[in-house]
Amino acid sequence: MTHHEDHYAPLEEYEPDFTLTPEDYEPFVGRERVEALKELAAPLEGKGWANVNSTLIGGGVAEMLQSVVPLARSLGVNARWYVIRGHDEFFGVTKKFHNMLQGLDYSITLEEIFGAYLDTIDENARGAFIASDLVVVHDPQPAAMVMNGVIFGNVLWRCHIDTSTPNRTVWRFLLPYINLCAGAIFTMEEFVGPGLQVPLYEVSPCIDPLAEKNRQYSRDEALGILADLFNEHDIDPERPIVAAVSRYDVHKNQASILGAFKRLREEKSLDPAPYLVFLGNTATDDPEGGAMLEELKTLAGDDPDIRFWVNVEDNDRVVGSLMHAADCFVHVSTREGFGLVVSEALWQGTPVIGSRVGGITKQVVDGENGFLVAPLDIEATAQKLDWLLTNPERAREMGQRGREHVRQNFLLPELVRRYLTLMRFYTGQDRHAPEFRLNELTYTEVLSVVRPRHPYLAGT
Ligand code: UDP
Repeated sequence: MTHHEDHYAPLEEYEPDFTLTPEDYEPFVGRERVEALKELAAPLEGKGWANVNSTLIGGGVAEMLQSVVPLARSLGVNARWYVIRGHDEFFGVTKKFHNMLQGLDYSITLEEIFGAYLDTIDENARGAFIASDLVVVHDPQPAAMVMNGVIFGNVLWRCHIDTSTPNRTVWRFLLPYINLCAGAIFTMEEFVGPGLQVPLYEVSPCIDPLAEKNRQYSRDEALGILADLFNEHDIDPERPIVAAVSRYDVHKNQASILGAFKRLREEKSLDPAPYLVFLGNTATDDPEGGAMLEELKTLAGDDPDIRFWVNVEDNDRVVGSLMHAADCFVHVSTREGFGLVVSEALWQGTPVIGSRVGGITKQVVDGENGFLVAPLDIEATAQKLDWLLTNPERAREMGQRGREHVRQNFLLPELVRRYLTLMRFYTGQDRHAPEFRLNELTYTEVLSVVRPRHPYLAGT
């Protein structure tokens, strides 16, 4: 085990340098929903909502916090964002946690848990002080911070991954931290792991229609933004594009996309022939990306129609433009907490072939705005690709229905609405549990009501 001589700054606080107002969202969600949001926020003026996660950029959580924090601030809430810091070993261990919680088998040593993981948490906690009405701790990386005595307030653990069948060792290690919280939030009820004794809530992630990535591009504009990359990678814009965007991660299952694309062209000669473009980045808290990418490139071999774009410049505009310009988007993860890219692609009006897995099933309505397939079913994916590429008009209609589905369910104001609802509940403004509460009254909640009236304790 390595001992670090250098000390981290306790936690880094991120200060957003831009403003988002509720009115900015009116064109997307309508006046009524904007007014409802403001009404919800009114009694929360000046109340605190802190978020703790482990990366400023890369991955869905950072993506959402970038917009959630400024919007909450303009609603009068004192929203904050803290990022824990760690060395590669720390992220190596938390990546293992992540994979094991989503059902993969690894062995993990006490040194990894007590050294790389808990020592880093202790270093982050040193000198840290977070006091807020609501504190949302995102994912396993910062979870143990809740026991260091430096976080004050109603702490909720927000789980962005699928912990329905977690590895027992890691889950039992995390359970006491989670059960110390005032509640836990999951994307779907199915993801709730065993043994939780705290109030549970369901909240879906959302995308921000005002983010550069989610602006609605015209085809010309998108092609203009992609022009340099098309040149560099020798892509003819007249040919169809199948796009896939994600980190290079074992659960993202890019190999099946590649397999389906190859299968499609073996079985059928499409004219004009499509390209398959993989766009991916490597998040700072994800050490596995490089190796995964190399494996995939080896699988692709010298296929003339497959392209890899990695850590592109002007990332957000390229992501949005590629999703818009693509004829079809594919996301067939074997496990998926949500998969923001699915909503992002649908929002660009592009139909999605998604796997019938986790959060993807909330977004892709089979036959309506895309298709659901089993993640490893290369044949089914190839058939759906074929259908979408040979029925462009129907595919476009599906994409438009996708945009509406996202408008109704997965735009940022809905996410903020749920968090404000939680704030109101936890600060005592609302006595009723939110409508997205998943479980009955918990033991701690019963205690908090009974204890003050208990004759024995009343006298103390
Ligand atoms: N993303 C990006 N550039 C890339 C790859 C991904 O901006 O090269 C973004 C993507 O648009 C999405 C986020 O990273 O907003 C990934 O979120 P998702 O929920 O799909 O997956 P996660 O990485 O959180 O598992």
